[in-house]
Amino acid sequence: MEFVFAPPAPSAVPVAGMPAYFPVRRVFCVGRNYADHAREMGALAQAEGREPPFFFSKPGDAVVSADGEIAVAYPLATANLHHEVELVVALGAGGTSVAVDRAKGLIFGYAVGVDLTRRDMQARAKDKGHPWDMSKGFDQSAVVSAIHPVSAAGHPDRGRIWLSVNGAIRQDGDLSAMSWKVAEVIANLSTLVTLAPGDLIFTGTPAGVGPVARGDLLEAGVAGVGTLSARFF
Ligand code: MN
Repeated sequence: MEFVFAPPAPSAVPVAGMPAYFPVRRVFCVGRNYADHAREMGALAQAEGREPPFFFSKPGDAVVSADGEIAVAYPLATANLHHEVELVVALGAGGTSVAVDRAKGLIFGYAVGVDLTRRDMQARAKDKGHPWDMSKGFDQSAVVSAIHPVSAAGHPDRGRIWLSVNGAIRQDGDLSAMSWKVAEVIANLSTLVTLAPGDLIFTGTPAGVGPVARGDLLEAGVAGVGTLSARFF
């Protein structure tokens, strides 16, 4: 097929221990999947019950990744950029209406991710009942570490998830506190859209979200998965 100009290459995420890269298709995110974070956002129904999971998206080309320290441009149009450390699921297979007990079979591997959020813009959107889209899906808003394949590292169901800014711990939680587990997230999302190889799913953040500024060094990790470091310029 001929195109009127060259189509863009997909965002590429390194794969630990392999020479090849993971090509990103779509990026899905779960909202408020840890009760302590739902509580700090004032979403009490989400914190106290098992409200159904809800999702939002980022463009595939919002992903920024690298071997080693990741350079991230501080975005336009915000004075309150927030970090949200998350376990990221990388799909190597897809499907529609996937059963919970088959959902983990779709997973290629896991990464450490930071869902960057223009919190000031999001608050204005919520006030007006407008979409959050531009507060979540902007350039370089999805920071992703190298992907660790299931074939090498297995499935992390519990373990520490943490984030520090300039060496000071800001977020410190455990994967076992996720309201909706990874398999449930995949199964539920697959009732809404057809999932495919290359999709990334950000699975929510524990409490402690807060601001980052130009010059800051952000470090984050998930036990059994790996670490991420990012410098903002
Ligand atoms: Mn998030």
